[in-house]
Amino acid sequence: MKYYINTYGCQMNVHESEKLAGILEEMGYTLADSDKTADVVVFNTCAIRESAEQKIFGNIGMLKSVKAANPNMIIAVCGCMSQQKGYPEMIVKKYPYVDIIFGTHNLAKFKEFLNKKKSQKRVVEVVETEDIKLRDSMEATRTSGTNAWVNITYGCNNFCTYCIVPYVRGREVSRPMQDIIDEVEKLLKKGFKQITLLGQNVNSYGNDIDDEKVNFANLLRELDKLDYKYRLRFMTSHPKDLSKEVIDAMANGKHICHYLHLPVQSGSDEILKKMNRHYDTKRYFSVIDMARKAMPDIEFSSDIIVGFPGETEEDFEDTINLVKKVRYQQLFTFIYSKRKGTVAEKMPNQVDIKTKKQRLSKLIEIEREIATEISQKYLGKKVEVLVEGIHPKKKGYLMGSTDFGKTISFEGDENLLGSFVSVLVDKANHTTLSGKIVDVLDKSNSEYNLPKDKVRRK
Ligand code: SF4
Repeated sequence: MKYYINTYGCQMNVHESEKLAGILEEMGYTLADSDKTADVVVFNTCAIRESAEQKIFGNIGMLKSVKAANPNMIIAVCGCMSQQKGYPEMIVKKYPYVDIIFGTHNLAKFKEFLNKKKSQKRVVEVVETEDIKLRDSMEATRTSGTNAWVNITYGCNNFCTYCIVPYVRGREVSRPMQDIIDEVEKLLKKGFKQITLLGQNVNSYGNDIDDEKVNFANLLRELDKLDYKYRLRFMTSHPKDLSKEVIDAMANGKHICHYLHLPVQSGSDEILKKMNRHYDTKRYFSVIDMARKAMPDIEFSSDIIVGFPGETEEDFEDTINLVKKVRYQQLFTFIYSKRKGTVAEKMPNQVDIKTKKQRLSKLIEIEREIATEISQKYLGKKVEVLVEGIHPKKKGYLMGSTDFGKTISFEGDENLLGSFVSVLVDKANHTTLSGKIVDVLDKSNSEYNLPKDKVRRK
């Protein structure tokens, strides 16, 4: 029996698909080459943008004829899209050949749903709360090569006015600190070389636990004590909650990468207020300065939304000025699109699509220039690289990443996967560096599932 998981959206979903793969493999399923040849196909969905939804519906639609030819195929739809009010009913109506629908709070029950399906026509179960212990007990089939994702919080309390996440993932719940430490140690023992802590807002980790020692800075410090050669990353940080203590923990740590993804969303205080972000640009700049003082080698990336309702030319210019001042290594830029059920959906002065597109291209152009200049400062320098995969296009080449989060390619043998090497940079563009290995710093003996193997992200 074969399975296939189509994963959409963020890293949280990638890791949840790893947990679903864990259930299926424990039940004896193995990975199929494509969803068309699988006995169980899962769509782990995203609701962040309308375009994502259209793509998902298109892909579910493509399985209609496959399922007609193979009525025993089981199609399951889960994740943020199916957690939204009215969606399960709509999916049943439009795609009657979907067999199982569940939400973000009950993926731990997937095995139960598969068993129920044997005796009933369709299983639809979407609930509002979740048993975190049950989810934490799920064994993931890790699919991200040398990197292992580790949840530290679930849900979000922030209610940014453009975002659907708090409605589909519920309020923030932190995992017990010792559980996280135990999981990380187990992963390091298995040979993973990079741990990425996951939460919608990692900086508010522990706020819901009645023990002042349980906070993000202490979690970082405790994990940093684990005596293995490894890298510790985390996402996502919120500028309102990122504390000096966390920055100090990063600066003083042995394993914590000097890289910060700090979504700013807009450079206009007026728009930040409308977005309900709870910080202004003064606060944002002070966090950036604090981090640069503590770690002169740190690099930053960010998310920016252009064309938020009411965004004027001046507001957009403020964003451009902020980008020029901070100088990000990488930007994830988005055109604002309405999400049903959010506050911003009903805001007046929605920006027309032509203006949004013009602003986006201007922003991308500036980002590209800055990112190229940042990359070029590494020319002729040696950087420590974790070897993460095989180059998808150049035979005999490998891919890796630097501590400061830059992708780098270089010639090398596959048996270096998972090793730390020193690479002399000889080429640099806005997205990647390339160079030559000059030293092997730490050779790995572990074997890794490369990302293409189990969970394919769309
Ligand atoms: S912090 Fe804001 S953008 Fe991020 S998940 Fe929460 S509500 Fe959405």
